[in-house]
Amino acid sequence: MTLIPACFVGWLLWSSLGGSKDDGADGVGGASGASGPTTSSTSSPPPPSSGASAPPAPSGKSGKPGTPGKPLKGKVVVIDPGHNSHNREHPSQIARLVDIGTEKKECDTTGTATNSGYPEASFTLDVARRARILLEARGATVRFTHDGDRPYGPCVDERAEIGNKAHADAAVSVHADGAAAGERGFHVILPKSVRGGGADTSAITAPSRRLGERLRAEFAEATGSAPARYIGDGSGLDVRGDLGGLNLSTVPKVFIECGNMRDSQDAAELTDTAWRERAAHGIAQGITDFLNE
Ligand SMILES: [Zn+2]
Repeated sequence: MTLIPACFVGWLLWSSLGGSKDDGADGVGGASGASGPTTSSTSSPPPPSSGASAPPAPSGKSGKPGTPGKPLKGKVVVIDPGHNSHNREHPSQIARLVDIGTEKKECDTTGTATNSGYPEASFTLDVARRARILLEARGATVRFTHDGDRPYGPCVDERAEIGNKAHADAAVSVHADGAAAGERGFHVILPKSVRGGGADTSAITAPSRRLGERLRAEFAEATGSAPARYIGDGSGLDVRGDLGGLNLSTVPKVFIECGNMRDSQDAAELTDTAWRERAAHGIAQGITDFLNE
């Protein structure tokens, strides 16, 4: 016959409310997450089990939007918008072979497009510009490999060289994939350890992987997209040694394939400006996490 005074019930109530509340300042991260308002409301799968990634950074360290100050001040970020809308007008120039260290490959490619004709090169430049605004607001110096201001290209070797010469703290090449219809999701491409000719990625594979893991986590959270299941065993990470933009890089660098342009559901997202803004937030936040490690 235990007496349960009202004050004990009151304590339970207080405990359940106050005790469970996270006092972290990460509310912004939650608000900008996949549960935020979406226009195209596909079901938002939870972020990938980011077991390999570090747990969320303590409040104040992550540089989430709204963090006072300029968390990226003094940092140089190179964004590489994949392809170029005018590449198709210069077939012979972009077919020229360039040395990527381990082999010779085309200067550049036209990239893919959605079935309705929205080109990958338009997508990559738009997302890159959105990410630049976010990164510059955090104090970063942002360089582009091109800004829609070149007749074609640049070639993949020059894309890498621009990041190297800028001494970039991080470089990200933005793409969208052209896989089979029905295949959905994003993935990040990491540099394989290669050595040959002018290529030696041994020093950048480890930091590039950390950059890629940060990007994977933040891109999933910002967009609600799941890692592609058609590549990288569904991990959202693929490792390649055949990309000049990675082989020739001497700074931490990854590619992100934001979705599959040839799948109608992914295409609906890739062609949506609000989704592209969320994609840019994910990319900018992944870079920010990496640079604030
Ligand atoms: Zn591409």
